[in-house]
Amino acid sequence: MSEHESLFGAPFLKAENEGLYEPHGSESLGMSAERSIKHNREVAAKIPQWEEWRAAANAVKRYAIANLDKLLVEFEKNISARGTTVLWAKDAAEANRHVLDIVHRHSVKTVVKSKSMVSEEMELNHVLAEAGVRALETDLGEYLVQLAEQRPTHIVTPALHLSAEDVGRLFERKLGEPFTAEHEALTDIARRHLREEYLRADMGVSGVNFGIADTGSICIIENEGNAGLSTTAPPVHVALMGIEKVIPSIRYLPLFLNLLARSGTGQQLTTYTHLLHGPTPNRKQYLIILDNGRSNVLKDPHARAALFCIRCGACLNSCPVYRRVGGWAYGWVYPGPIGSILTPHLVGLEQAGTLPFASSLCGACGEVCPVKIDIPHQLVHLRHRAVEEPSPAKSWTERLTWQMWSWAMRGPVRYRLAMGCVRLGVRLARFLPWHPGKLGAWTRGRALPDVPGDTFRNWWKRNGSRLVPQEETSSGGTGGEA
Ligand code: SF4
Repeated sequence: MSEHESLFGAPFLKAENEGLYEPHGSESLGMSAERSIKHNREVAAKIPQWEEWRAAANAVKRYAIANLDKLLVEFEKNISARGTTVLWAKDAAEANRHVLDIVHRHSVKTVVKSKSMVSEEMELNHVLAEAGVRALETDLGEYLVQLAEQRPTHIVTPALHLSAEDVGRLFERKLGEPFTAEHEALTDIARRHLREEYLRADMGVSGVNFGIADTGSICIIENEGNAGLSTTAPPVHVALMGIEKVIPSIRYLPLFLNLLARSGTGQQLTTYTHLLHGPTPNRKQYLIILDNGRSNVLKDPHARAALFCIRCGACLNSCPVYRRVGGWAYGWVYPGPIGSILTPHLVGLEQAGTLPFASSLCGACGEVCPVKIDIPHQLVHLRHRAVEEPSPAKSWTERLTWQMWSWAMRGPVRYRLAMGCVRLGVRLARFLPWHPGKLGAWTRGRALPDVPGDTFRNWWKRNGSRLVPQEETSSGGTGGEA
């Protein structure tokens, strides 16, 4: 999957069928994700008040999302007073127009970017390239993915699908470096190639982890130092923030920092926590606050909690479906369980209505979420909407199948008749060279089961009395308690 191919909400199963899964990545990706979640659980288990922290974070986020209109206005007022120019964007196109205006105003030719999922929503690299601006990712994972002309596979660790050997070969091919698979040597190569870029860049672009309303500050966390350099070395800094990232007060920040680092990377705190209180002297700072479909989530009271997400990635690591198919199969920016509940709102059920079905509903995602988003119930809610509203999941064949099932289950005669039809159908289907629709998809990789010569009911009629314990038969059955 080339970086420049638009993924805009490719349906989950279609994306998988078309080979959008990571080449030979699912095994290493699955193992890495499993290791991460095990480590995160061990770290969380050492905190006796972990559950209280989760409940408190849920309460703060609930308050913030319920009061988003007031908090965003307060945040804008306070950060503007510090000298930051605030721009609002209702969608990705408007946000890109703002960025291009800034690019033209400051004659920008080169951009260094630290990790920003919002910029992925905007396809910003692509937009900048079309405008003749060179944008370089500086987060190591994003840098690797950009060099490989791929897409991030994970929201926290974008190159989770690449092994050290893959990276060594990539550097050999793209940077002309001698092959190595040593982690330290690989990091040195990346650092050497990136370091000069910060000093040359005309503009830095970053995401925002938290927008703090009462102080008008931006909080960005990271481990590599690249966000610090991207936001302060170039003369212009553009921060991109989704409307849901605002929190009411700086006194809640330690709570979120504790939860985010432990759930994201299993650290007590990330290596760097940047608090930006307006632009650095003699530099310009812009903040673009983006809606891009988030108001659709707000409109649905059952789905609103999806906006509590602090993008830690723990639900991805814990998800057996994500670990098997990887991030690209989800067809857009946000993979895994959070993608399955967020993307249908952001790009529409018509585009992404199959995503809520990309789950076994095992509940692991809800158990690990540090802000206690009830992801499994959100998935069920969206499944309901996906079959009621226009979406690729709204299928008349499925509806008809369930109606027939419901009819058959309403009486023993109907049930026997239906089972007789199924047995006959399976026997006949064996002789057909081709099977239609979903049956065909199922039998492409599997053999139809053998139909037993006799039914269980007939067998039970003949043998059941021998198997029921004597005292039960003599007392007329097990009965119930009085
Ligand atoms: S939904 Fe919860 S677990 Fe998943 S990324 Fe968001 S905060 Fe983390």
